[in-house]
Amino acid sequence: MTGRVAVSADLNFVEGLMLHGAADLKKCYQCSTCTVACPLTPDEQPFPRKEMLWAQWGMQEKLVRDMDLWLCHNCNDCTDQCPRGAKPGEVMSALRNQTIEHYSYPQAISKAAKTGAGNLVLILIPMLLVALAILLKNMGNDFAFLTAKPIVYANMLPVTFVDLIFLPAALFALFNGYMGISKFIGGLKEQYPPTEAGETFFASVKGTIQDVLSHIEFKKCLSNKSRNIWHRLMMYGFLGLFVTTNAVMILHYLKEFGFDVQETPLPFFHPVKILGNVSAVAAFSGIYFIVRDRVKNSAESVLSLFDWMFIGNMFFTVVTGIMCQVFRVGDQAVLAFSTYYIHLVMVFYLLAYAPQTKFGHILFRPAAMIYSRYSGRNKNIFRNL
Ligand code: SF4
Ligand code: SF4
Repeated sequence: MTGRVAVSADLNFVEGLMLHGAADLKKCYQCSTCTVACPLTPDEQPFPRKEMLWAQWGMQEKLVRDMDLWLCHNCNDCTDQCPRGAKPGEVMSALRNQTIEHYSYPQAISKAAKTGAGNLVLILIPMLLVALAILLKNMGNDFAFLTAKPIVYANMLPVTFVDLIFLPAALFALFNGYMGISKFIGGLKEQYPPTEAGETFFASVKGTIQDVLSHIEFKKCLSNKSRNIWHRLMMYGFLGLFVTTNAVMILHYLKEFGFDVQETPLPFFHPVKILGNVSAVAAFSGIYFIVRDRVKNSAESVLSLFDWMFIGNMFFTVVTGIMCQVFRVGDQAVLAFSTYYIHLVMVFYLLAYAPQTKFGHILFRPAAMIYSRYSGRNKNIFRNL
């Protein structure tokens, strides 16, 4: 039986994709070498060749509902083997960025994060907010925090002021993240209806947490084996910094309610301080080596502004965090307080815009991994186990 398939191609989508990391997309001649080379693809409806075809045809609706984009861990084994230099690994990465933009809420933030002018606006918001809070707190005392000894960051901006800025930012991110991810899951359900082979919801969540923590997929990379270590360092580092930040906040409020606990600045051997320092070093090392490898392999990998903003944001968040401590201990007040100001701005960008920027991976990837288990798509994946 023969038949025709109607394809509605979106050429603007193809052009946008090529501008944002998939510049060599059109070199692909559908040989399927990439699919054979991929260590993670399932046997049924394998990737990434089909994504290359859909992307060349501009089939945006199919791609944004494609769970397989998120089962790819960007190892670039496929890119290494592609005879045409079409860089399928980079195309998969650019498609993930397009998916984040498609589902992000409000979409204007994601669009802004892709342009220089847009990023300027996004960064000006926390710059003004934090500066205004510092002015309000210190106008009446001639900025006494600059000369007070020892250096205490809470003198410039008390924890309550910090929370007044960052808790709404976190709620803003949570609400927007929920809006984006619920639409995304709806799309996945349409393209991959649940099957009897699927796991229960709780088993899917548990299995995904184990996969993420063990980095089981990263270990299968052939061309970039060390990425498993660097990515794990970065992930555990950021988890540790997240726990540290919340522990500091809890200590502050325990103190406020009259409990006998140590507040910041914490002594060097306080457990929370140790966790913070070890996590900062781990996160810094992970980011440094990932960027070093990407720059070294720049012929194979293409980074868009969207990618660089994410990498730069994480890098400066960690570096300014470390330098805050160095300048405080070294009694360099102006350097210490300016670095703390930049640190707060960086954290705001990372947190408040997480669902609309590349940091959105921490929502979209686990959601897709959970749904792949829930729908049964994962049953023939990980064939090398
Ligand atoms: S991306 Fe490269 S390896 Fe994959 S189908 Fe196209 S030409 Fe072949
Ligand atoms: S980058 Fe790695 S995981 Fe992703 S499609 Fe290519 S080979 Fe597969």
